[in-house]
Amino acid sequence: MHEEDNNSCCCGTPGHPGGAAHGQRLGWHEYFMSVARLISRRATCTRGHIGAVIVRDHNILSTGYNGAPSGLPHCNDTNCRIYRSTHPDGTVEENCVNTIHAEINAIAQAAKHGVSIKDADIYITASPCIHCLKVLINVGIKTIYYEKPYKIGNIAELLRLSGVRLVQVTAEEA
Ligand SMILES: [Zn+2]
Ligand SMILES: [Zn+2]
Repeated sequence: MHEEDNNSCCCGTPGHPGGAAHGQRLGWHEYFMSVARLISRRATCTRGHIGAVIVRDHNILSTGYNGAPSGLPHCNDTNCRIYRSTHPDGTVEENCVNTIHAEINAIAQAAKHGVSIKDADIYITASPCIHCLKVLINVGIKTIYYEKPYKIGNIAELLRLSGVRLVQVTAEEA
């Protein structure tokens, strides 16, 4: 966590984390993760609802949620098409053929509108899959803040080699 976040509470108590539990002003991490959580409620795939917010210097640059490409039919109980893939370590991952992941949709939104996301951070309601992490590395994301862990073992090596930081923002903070 960044140093300044520990001193952000309005009550003036040194080191007080502040936040919703205090009934006052939101800290930055809980602010952006709350936005990501709200955005996840637009997701359509029955496989899971994920939201993502790309941020630089405390400004939101782009957002995304998982779902079908624009104009194509949304997933529902009958047309969600799950496929399984096996990671080299033997763990099995399930994804939906119809769906673009939230992180990639946030990147696509930035690209569509010509917004640079180099050296930005991303808040995601779940840690990224290995496919999304590869793209996050290449668009220049520095830190990934996530709420719920998802198969982190699969991305550990890539994180170590790339230098991208993965930081959990827990429910207490968010
Ligand atoms: Zn689906
Ligand atoms: Zn993904």
